[in-house]
Parts: sequence; C-alpha cells; structure tokens
Amino acid sequence: MTLSPLSLPSSDDALSWVEEYAADGLATARRLVDELRAAPPADTPAALRQWDEIGRRLGNVAAVGSLLSNVHPREDVRTRCEQAEVDVDRMATQLRQDRALYDVFAALDASGLDDRAARLLDKVLTDFRRAGVDRDDATRARLAEINERLTALDQEFSRNTRDDVRTVTAPAERFAGLPQDWLEAHPADAAGDVTATTDYPDSVPVRMFAHDADLRHDMSVAFLTRGYPQNEPLLQEMFALRHELATLVGYADWASYDADVKMIGSGPAIPEFIDRIAAAAAEPMERDLAVLMARYRQDRPDATEIPGSDASYYQEAVRREQYDVDAQQVRRYFDFTKVRQGLLEVTGRLFGLSYLPVPDAPVWHEDVTAYDVVETGSTEPFARIYLDLHPREGKYKHAAQFTLTDGVAGRQLPEGVLVCNFSRGLMEHDHVVTLFHEFGHLVHHVLGGRGEWARFAGVATEWDFVEAPSQMLEEWAWDADILASFATDESGTPIPADLVARMRAADDYGKGIYARVQMFYAAMSYWFHTDRPSDLTAAMRELQARYSPFPYVEGTHMFASFGHLGGYTSAYYTYMWSLVIAKDLFSAFDPADLFDPEVAGRYRDRVLAPGGAKDAADLVADFLGRPYSFDAFAAWLAR
Ligand SMILES: [Zn+2]
Repeated sequence: MTLSPLSLPSSDDALSWVEEYAADGLATARRLVDELRAAPPADTPAALRQWDEIGRRLGNVAAVGSLLSNVHPREDVRTRCEQAEVDVDRMATQLRQDRALYDVFAALDASGLDDRAARLLDKVLTDFRRAGVDRDDATRARLAEINERLTALDQEFSRNTRDDVRTVTAPAERFAGLPQDWLEAHPADAAGDVTATTDYPDSVPVRMFAHDADLRHDMSVAFLTRGYPQNEPLLQEMFALRHELATLVGYADWASYDADVKMIGSGPAIPEFIDRIAAAAAEPMERDLAVLMARYRQDRPDATEIPGSDASYYQEAVRREQYDVDAQQVRRYFDFTKVRQGLLEVTGRLFGLSYLPVPDAPVWHEDVTAYDVVETGSTEPFARIYLDLHPREGKYKHAAQFTLTDGVAGRQLPEGVLVCNFSRGLMEHDHVVTLFHEFGHLVHHVLGGRGEWARFAGVATEWDFVEAPSQMLEEWAWDADILASFATDESGTPIPADLVARMRAADDYGKGIYARVQMFYAAMSYWFHTDRPSDLTAAMRELQARYSPFPYVEGTHMFASFGHLGGYTSAYYTYMWSLVIAKDLFSAFDPADLFDPEVAGRYRDRVLAPGGAKDAADLVADFLGRPYSFDAFAAWLAR
C-alpha cells in the first residue's frame, strides 16, 4: 500500500478543515478508548496496537494544533488550533489517570513480546503510574489539582516575564558604539535622550556595543530585574507543588521524578554532571578570563575583576579585535536561496536522500516550500517536509522543527516542518548554523518515522538526548569545504578557507566562560527545585559565586526572568548533556571526509532511524561501538 501525505486545506477552507480534523481525531480516539474499556483484546500485541492507535490519533490533532497555531496567517485558525491542543491535553491527562484502562494494561501478559512491544508496554504502564493512576481517589484528585495549578503558574510566570519590559533612558551621546542602523531606529527625543528597552533587540546590542560602562550597567540591572518581585512567590509555589507531585507518586523529589524518564536517569546524577562539567571547564575558563582581563585592563589598568555588566562588551571586543572576523564581510557569502539549496544538497548527500520539490502541494502560506523525501535512487516518497523560513506577522518568533504527522509504517508518512525567521537576502552565519541545527531535528523526525509504533516515532527519544543529533549537524555548517560548495558571493567566489578558520577560532573563544555560565544556570535549575530555598536571591548569589566566571551584579534578581524554570524545570543541564553526546557522536566522523558513506549510513540507521525504540544510550553505543563518553567533549573544551 502506498501512503499519501496529509492533504492540507487552502486558506479559505482552513477553519472548517481544522474543526473537522480535530473533531474526527478526538471522536475516533474516544471510540477506540470505549472499545478498549468494553472489550479489552486478550492478546497483548492487539491491546498495544489499539493504545498506540489512540496515541496516534491524539498526536495528529495535537500536531496540527501546535503547528498551525504557530504559523497560520489567519488568526481565527490559530485560535481554533490552540483550542484543539487544549482539548487533546485534557483528554490525554484523563486517560493517564483512568484506573480501568490501567487495569487492562497491568493485566496483560508480557511474555513472548518482541523487544519493542515489551518496551512499549513498559512505557505505557510508566505513563499511567507517573500520572498517579494507582493512587487512591483523594491523591488522584490532588494530583489533578496540582497539575492545573502548575499550568496556571507557568503561564503567569511567562506572562510576567514577557510583559515586564523596562527601559533605560540616557542622553543620545551615551549610546555611542551601537551599530548605525540601531541608532537610526532609536532617534533622540526632544530632550536629546534615547530610550532602550529590555527586549533583546535593544538590550543585547546595548550590553555588547555601548562604550559607556554606566549605560551597560544600567541596562544590565534593568534586564536582570525583570519579573521581580512578582515572580518570586510564583516560583516558590511552583517548586513546592512540583515537589509535592513527585512525592505523591513515589519519588524523593521533583528532579528524581523528572530525570527518571531521561538519559541522565536520576536526580542526584544532575549535580554530579554539573560539577564534572564545571571542573573540566575550570582551566579553559581561567584561560578565557586571562585574555578578557588583559583586554579589560587596557581600559582600566587597576581592575582586579570584570563586572558582569561588562562581560558581553569585552568578549565581543576580543572576538572582533583578535580574530579579525567582520560580520559584514561574512554575510556576503550567505545568500538565502543558495544556502537553502546547499543545505538540501549537503544533508541529502550525507543521509542518502533526495528532496523532490512539490510545487503544487497545498501550503498555509506562499513562502512555504514542500518536498517529498526519497531514498537516493528511488522515486517512492517516504516522507514529506515543509520549509517555512521567513518572518511574517502572527508567526512563531523563534526557530524550531514542528511535527505535522508522526510516521508509522503502513499507516502514515512522517511529515515535518521547519519554522524559522531568516531574512530573504543575505544571512548571518549564525543563522546558517541554526538552519542546519533545526534540519537535524527534521531529518531525525522523518528517518525515525518508519517504525511500527507511533509512540516511538521520530524524535520521541529521551528529552535530554533530543538536541544531540541537531547539535552534531551544526558541524557541517562550520566545515570550510562544505561551506565553499554553496556559500559564494555575488560574483560566485566561494567563501575563503582562511576566513572560515578565523570564524571558527572566534567562535571557539570563550567556551570555558560559556560552559561555566551554563553550569551556574543548570545549578539554579536543579537546586531551586531540590532545596526549595526561602530566599532565591541569596541562593542564586551563592551558586553564582561557585560556578560563574562573573560576580553578582548588586541589586539584580536574574532568576525572576529565567524562563527555563517553567519549561525545563530542574533539567536545564540538558543543553550541555546533549552537547557532550553530540561531540562524542561527531568524533566517529573523519574531519577530512564528513561524507564518508559508511559512517554516515551507520549513524543514520543506528541513531536516527530507530527513533525512540531504544534507550538513547544504547543507540549511541550501537553507533560508536562503545558506551558514550566524556572524552570528545573534554578535548573540545580544552582545545
Ligand atoms: Zn534544537
């Protein structure tokens, strides 16, 4: 049987299409649940099949809801899609707390199941138990109450952070050093003053480029006090409720509950990891700081330390002055159309794929391009991808891979979407790296979408592993030969290898500082949840002194706008954990031949194709032929 991609609606029909798609998906899921309750299949694989089918139906609605609420040009469609997400969420939570359903699965005979089905049964039972299904009525009711309150707290915390926009106003001449286009966009008022907000497009350049140290300091204070004091009690309540939830379902604390379904495995492994990274980064940090200090003393000969509010400015100065990388010169080589073509050629060659344009595929906006994905040499598509890469009003503001459908063999094709916000003309190299990164998620989604179970499709791996394949693919956007194959200037001249070498050196500078700052954040994320300190500012100062290269800026409360305390909770270590794995995976490739078909094929088949059907540690070991290790990361850090 040949599967067809989902047929998306035209803009005019989108609202009724979404209505119908959501209603149909939820109704089918409900009917399958009722059947399962009324007449549970005696045969274990059949029961699992039915449950996975329920998950697939709900997943389809959730995916369309999430994608179109973030990209559809029509507001009524976006709003309807948000509702669809809420409906799926509510139903999924009810199912996981449904004792009768749990009893069906707990009674199943696991003997004779193949590895993947056994794994699925185990995961299904774990989902139920983590939702508290086997607890008494009062406990389950309390868990539901906690979940609802946590959702509300998280929303209020994000809203406070987003809405607390502060400003710094100063005479125009104090903004000297900022780029010309920024200054033109911020003309002085009648009194001769310029106002900058704490939003990124203002606060980042002010802290990075303003020559006036007092201005940098004022902006740092404004930026690092967003959300304070109103967010502190919300965070305290969040940490307390997460702790209560975890203990109600049998864990020692929230971090243990959260880590139990991740690659890191246990709560206490998190501070061990943080300290291990901090130790490995100690010397690189000292080296980076020595360079930074030398530059700082050119301006302040008596200085003994670098204030946090000066860190960004002087790191940028070091990169610009010592590595000779002019961003204006670099971007001449990155024309969007050529970059997109280069991305498809590079990843196609690496993974043995071809992307066939589907110009007549229905899309939600004219900017979107659709491609069928085939194995090189074949004509039979096994996936479809969409690239939606330019900004527009009402569209998602960051860069991410969205699922349209999870691929299941014989049932539905994997379909995924890259949603980014790149310029239509020349791109920053940073954005080229982002494009490769996000494509790493997309290719994982489609290659991992040919398995038997929806539950394990695509990027359904442990959450702290999921960034590793995408972080690794970034390396292909730093290779001089690869870049030269598509990064050419107006006259067709490829980007010079020595320029790429300087770009890499500039990018390398500050790794030690970066790693230690990240470990400061990771420590906050872990210890706030585990210790639940009564004074968050005092606890933060202590952790900053232990891990960060830069001293605390008096009067600030950075934690109050640390958004990841909402989504990542105690697991901010995730980024660095994935990076350790990414460096280890990359160590198997020959830097002189990043396309070696044997290595690339092995990586594709053993790491990406299985999706979540095995533990990530086993996928990595299957590829490397040994357990994952810290060595490649440590060598990179020390380099
Ligand atoms: Zn990512």
